[in-house]
Amino acid sequence: SIRENLRNIAIIAHVDHGKTTLVDVMLRQSGIFRENEQVQERVMDSNDLERERGITILAKNTAVCYKDTKINIVDTPGHADFGGEVERILKMVDGVLLLVDAFDGPMPQTRFVLRKALQLNLKPIVVINKIDRPEARPMEVIDEVLELFIELGADDEQLEFPVVYASARDGYANLELNDGGTNLEPLFETILKNVPAPKGSSDEPLQLLVSSIDYDEYVGRIAIGRVERGTIKVGQQAVTCRIDGSLFNMRISRLYMFEGLRRAEANEATFGDIVAVSGVGDITIGETICDVDCPEALPFIEIDEPTINMTFSVNNSPFAGREGTFVTSRHLRDRLFKELETNLSLRVEETESADSFKVSGRGELHLSILIETMRRQGYEFQVSKPKVIFKEIDGVEQEPIEHLTIDVPEDFMGVVMEKLGTRRAEMINMHSSNQGYMRLEFKIPARGLIGYRSEFMTDTKGNGIMNHIFHGYEPFKGEIFGRQRGSIIAWEDGEAVTYGLYNAQDRGTLFIEPGLKVYEGMVVGENARAEDIVINVCKKKHVTNMRASGSDEALRLTPPRQMSLEQCLEFIADDELVEITPKNIRIRKRILD
Ligand code: GDP
Repeated sequence: SIRENLRNIAIIAHVDHGKTTLVDVMLRQSGIFRENEQVQERVMDSNDLERERGITILAKNTAVCYKDTKINIVDTPGHADFGGEVERILKMVDGVLLLVDAFDGPMPQTRFVLRKALQLNLKPIVVINKIDRPEARPMEVIDEVLELFIELGADDEQLEFPVVYASARDGYANLELNDGGTNLEPLFETILKNVPAPKGSSDEPLQLLVSSIDYDEYVGRIAIGRVERGTIKVGQQAVTCRIDGSLFNMRISRLYMFEGLRRAEANEATFGDIVAVSGVGDITIGETICDVDCPEALPFIEIDEPTINMTFSVNNSPFAGREGTFVTSRHLRDRLFKELETNLSLRVEETESADSFKVSGRGELHLSILIETMRRQGYEFQVSKPKVIFKEIDGVEQEPIEHLTIDVPEDFMGVVMEKLGTRRAEMINMHSSNQGYMRLEFKIPARGLIGYRSEFMTDTKGNGIMNHIFHGYEPFKGEIFGRQRGSIIAWEDGEAVTYGLYNAQDRGTLFIEPGLKVYEGMVVGENARAEDIVINVCKKKHVTNMRASGSDEALRLTPPRQMSLEQCLEFIADDELVEITPKNIRIRKRILD
């Protein structure tokens, strides 16, 4: 049969194109909020970090009602460090809304998710938002969307996408341009008409594919996914088909469906419904919840393997514990293991020391977001330099290689290619895409990407977009010697302060000249040749600039300043640590015990 009164959609949008506003209005107009009730929580992106970095990390569920139809809306992650997640989320839905700013047009950041959606044969509805903007250029934007779809391999049916013109801010949508409007009805109608209703049978044996995991202190692990087949009931005995092929018996203790922003308890759900289930043991993404008598797994969705690891440890500097709320190894341990509940491509391992944990993730961004989140939550700890995870395959040491996709305005192509060259990237594709952007594709050792993101942002003045996905393992080809980098670190009253960064083309000694307040300086480099040149100069004297011998470069030392986390991670040497506190991020020399 067909669930005529149910639709499941995903929204794909670039940050700031109006997704939150649109979902707010959809909720309001569907009677989920009463007239003067405040939308307390900003709908989909409550996470500040996501906004700052221009990406969406967590998929969240919302549901609205239009007439007698329920529309489940899932948010899509915007970044490929979370690539595996995109596919899992899109498998829950039957259609996508591509929301595009009527002035900005489609942005390269949404390509990755869009390509996946098209590959999964989902039919897109294009919503041209902010149509009220005086500088709106909707017709050109539609052409750009069309071009993009062609480039991403859309089929004929997908190219005949319906278009809805909207002003989420003013709460209206229309099928005709320049017709104004009074409400979102035309959008709701378009969804009803173009997104297929789930088909299936409620009598068949249950199958529910777990697409995401949530955690609740009281009920424990919660599996979120779509009921593909049959019916699920509270109290029912069910079985999980595990990834390793084993079966796990369990009893569904609670069942929830989405209602507005909330989860509402339900007794029963059937095929097509997106539900949250508790009582599921240590179930994980990609596993299938089945009927006890008919344990048939749905195709498994792969989770990308971690390629980078770092040590997280208790801060043992002389000034430890002054700035953080959570500082002990117990705090750190509990927090990291709790993260595993929902952060599926993360791994945490104990080490010989009770104070240190090895944390592995999908890339530098994946780990640095965890670090930033913990810092903001009041944690104080220290991390080591990120290391790539090698693998031995047939007796040969192999390293992870990433497929890197870069979209940049033409002007910045040169600098990007030059920098990536020194990082051992191999170009595999290059072509121009819309709005003067060039698309460059590379194969690059995961090692070469460490620290590149912040450099790339600076080099492209924030106009470039980079995404990478795991490509495979290849034999290790030796060290990467890029530019030599170093940081000048000084101790002031026993505390480490970073004074600046230098780039020296040649190996050599650095001279620090009088002027700045540096008691003891140390220069550390990226590789063995420039590493650990200790300069015991100007003790308690003032230093103004430094010079690298063998080159004419004279660099002025900048006053103490804070580096970004990514900069610190790239610039630290093996025997240094980045100290993370709610107030500061600083590099300091490792204290060996
Ligand atoms: P998100 O990042 O996609 O969730 O975007 P938001 O919903 O937070 O919107 C980003 C900004 O665009 C906010 O300042 C909104 O007020 C504004 N905005 C959203 N929709 C519209 C619209 O239809 N017209 C205009 N003029 N501004 C809009």
